[in-house]
Amino acid sequence: MNQQDGEQPNQSHSLFDAFLHAKQCKEVLSRFEELCSYLNLEHTGQIHFYHKLKSSLNYWSAKALWTKLDKKAGHRDYDQGRACSNTKCLIIGAGPCGLRSAIELAFLGAHVVVVEKREIFSRNNVLHLWPFTIQDLRALGAKKFYGRFCTGSLDHISIRQLQLILLKVALLLGVHVHIGVQFKGLILPVVNSRGQVSGWRADLQPGSSPLSQYEFDVLISAGGGRFVPEGFKRKETRGKLAIGITTNFINNHSRTEVEVAEISGVARIYNQKFFQNLCNKTGIDLENIVYYKDDTHYFVMTAKKHSLLKKGVILNDKLDIESLLSPENVNQQALLAYAKEAANFSTNYQLPTLQFALNHRHRPDVDMFDFTCMSRAENAALVRDCNGAKLLIGLVGDCLVEPFWPLGTGVGRGFLAAFDAAWMVKRWASEISPLDVLAERESIYQQLSQTSPDNMNKNVNQYSIDPTTRYRNINLQAIKTSQVHKLYIKGDIE
Ligand code: FAD
Repeated sequence: MNQQDGEQPNQSHSLFDAFLHAKQCKEVLSRFEELCSYLNLEHTGQIHFYHKLKSSLNYWSAKALWTKLDKKAGHRDYDQGRACSNTKCLIIGAGPCGLRSAIELAFLGAHVVVVEKREIFSRNNVLHLWPFTIQDLRALGAKKFYGRFCTGSLDHISIRQLQLILLKVALLLGVHVHIGVQFKGLILPVVNSRGQVSGWRADLQPGSSPLSQYEFDVLISAGGGRFVPEGFKRKETRGKLAIGITTNFINNHSRTEVEVAEISGVARIYNQKFFQNLCNKTGIDLENIVYYKDDTHYFVMTAKKHSLLKKGVILNDKLDIESLLSPENVNQQALLAYAKEAANFSTNYQLPTLQFALNHRHRPDVDMFDFTCMSRAENAALVRDCNGAKLLIGLVGDCLVEPFWPLGTGVGRGFLAAFDAAWMVKRWASEISPLDVLAERESIYQQLSQTSPDNMNKNVNQYSIDPTTRYRNINLQAIKTSQVHKLYIKGDIE
């Protein structure tokens, strides 16, 4: 039934509201499908969809969002959605950076498909956001989807809420998002009997996915820190042994809970007394601790190995970190007790009885991980050419540079890389030579690891995909085309 039929004039409004407030990934997708089918709209994978949706939904709540998105879409960088209208993109991963990249590519007018191997957004962990990311998310209408978004002086959000916001924006802009689909590798173009060359395709699991037929000329890899697409190399930086613990407790949003102060990063060097007291009273020895409130009470801390051994969390000391933290060498109950005690002490025992929130495996949400080694990709992009069919591959987010969590660099640098990748795709679509595109991308990539809110351009309202709006004194020709020949790969990779 259509709204024009006049039988249920507000049905589209309530469907839109249900979409706006959906709290799970699958729910977002099904609410969105319901809305599209009610309005008789075909979800095209491109920005035209957004314009059609806008004209079909003349609803005050939607209009406030359209105003924001129209303002973004009208930016000169996107050339009214024509800049990349002939470009077809596949994005691996619906984490914050994959979805943020999808949104930019949609504004540029590209056909955008995202594949995500998981079916749920389950990460409760809370991320500290740089000022420009807060501004950026506000401009995308974050508050419309999540009313509590960075209220007052709050500058953090849980990963899952961030994903939900970005997923909703991406869908509204016409992006196709497929969950439960894993990227396994690339399928090379072939020449048929008439001499025609097919396009690049993806080997996907499940193989029955109709997406297996999708041909694309840009691949953006946003599969996180452990995902390295073929052809890319990573380099590692090893620091001193660093063991992190994250934990989440249920937040009932009671008055008492609201009043307990957050801890936005206390490091040992700044508060020796606190850490000494903690150690004396509980035997827990930490380098730092953070406590944020969102859907959950979230704590993240760096624990010293000797205290984990002493408290029986780690059973036996071992030289290599993998064996040290292997499940057989960790007493899970002792780990839960350690995390809870640290949380209680650092909040002065003011939080009412702490109850663990559950993770996607329905177990208490506590994780111990090693961040001794940080890795980053040597290059940000490469081009593959097979029988004349070219594919531009770019990395974004943790897949490009693994962040050092105590500095909260993940999403900040991740979004910068998403903008840089979108700029690269725009240059690719403008048909400048592939080597020029790659040389410029590598020139911009050189800046990324040094960026912090302090050394970026101050006017965050002016940030766009154009790197000169964000990085100070950037030289877009720092890397010459002669230095990127190895990033243009012909044929198969050996
Ligand atoms: P991810 O969030 O890892 O998303 C990758 C997605 O790709 C996943 O959904 C995965 O399922 C999917 N995927 C992987 N492989 C495939 C495949 N083959 N096919 C299909 N899908 C695939 N950052 C901050 O900005 N501030 C902080 O305060 C902060 N604190 C942190 C604290 C800790 C303890 C840790 C560990 C990290 C912290 N970070 C922080 C970093 C932040 O979490 C990451 O930078 C951010 O999540 C990266 O987003 P992403 O999209 O690049 O990757």
